[in-house]
Amino acid sequence: MTALAAYACLPEQSRGRRHAEAPPQASARSVRNPHQRDRDRIVHATAFRRLVYKTQVFLNHEGDLFRTRMTHSLEVAQLSRSIARALGLNEDLVEAIALAHDLGHTPFGHAGQDALNACMAEHGGFEHNLQSLRVVDELEERYPAFNGLNLSFETREGILKHCSRRNAELLIQQEPGGVAQRFLQGTQPSLEAQLCNLADAIAYNAHDIDDGVRSGLLSLEQLQAVPLFARFYDETLAEFPDLQGRRVLFECIRRMLSEQVDDVIAATRDALDRVRPMHVDDVRRSPPLVCFSPSMQAESQALQLFLSRNLYRHPQVLQTTDGARNVVQALFDVYVDRPEEMPPAYAKRPDRHRSVADYLSGMTDRFASREHTRLKLGSETN
Ligand code: MG
Repeated sequence: MTALAAYACLPEQSRGRRHAEAPPQASARSVRNPHQRDRDRIVHATAFRRLVYKTQVFLNHEGDLFRTRMTHSLEVAQLSRSIARALGLNEDLVEAIALAHDLGHTPFGHAGQDALNACMAEHGGFEHNLQSLRVVDELEERYPAFNGLNLSFETREGILKHCSRRNAELLIQQEPGGVAQRFLQGTQPSLEAQLCNLADAIAYNAHDIDDGVRSGLLSLEQLQAVPLFARFYDETLAEFPDLQGRRVLFECIRRMLSEQVDDVIAATRDALDRVRPMHVDDVRRSPPLVCFSPSMQAESQALQLFLSRNLYRHPQVLQTTDGARNVVQALFDVYVDRPEEMPPAYAKRPDRHRSVADYLSGMTDRFASREHTRLKLGSETN
């Protein structure tokens, strides 16, 4: 790894883990630093493997080639690492944050999350970012002495990218001065965390175009209305006039991704030159520094708006996600009424509704569907 900049999260200055662990032997210390350990703990976690079978936009069983939360997370990690390396940031940390950022997502994508949040309205609600933190802090069962993966402060800070004030106050009660503090203070997270947040949007904007065209719900003609895409479409066909089919799409997406990566690197360098943070704590006190240029920001927003109007709210997407919403609601009601239908560890918990939310949100799409069938809850489209 290239030398880290002064404003990066330096592994040797990590704010540490919540539970004390015996320090690794000197020989092991030279092999893996704390953020590399975090990344490896995440890769071996059960919740990470489940991402393979969780919907990103298209339901997991709709086709073998659409993105899942797993492939999305890998793409976010790839983009984050490229940008981190150019900026002298901690690549291992961005990889850990990127691989963990969607661990708390419910089955069936946003429809599942909305349904579970509605079910939990009277019981503290459901936020997927907070749930990702719960997964790594509480729900993974891998160590003899503590719950969760006991990740470093910096990785956890990046995972909790949004949090309501109410939930931040609850978290601070358990962890004074911890990762939720910034939501009350209005301060920023590390550059590595800021970067993963932006790389998430770059990744899904690009891969949702790909999946949208692959599914037949979006056409290349329609995409001409999106300046960020149209620019590279014209450029590609000017350079390769005979190019056809999927290669045109892939070339446009590749150019679009490169341009956005270059833009973030340049705009962030400018911001860093203005503020000149000398330590990650300076970063935390500064305004957000990882950013697009204003013109790319506008183009990225236009693309996001296009996808939300034409893909996420496409009647065919809404129809399948309606079915998914029904599955989550029906399962929630059954487990609350008959907790014995859940595994004993969840059934015996006194916080019934939260326990059901934890169990349900951990499910893959296909496991949730199988449970829906097993419990004879009727057609998914009811
Ligand atoms: Mg994501």
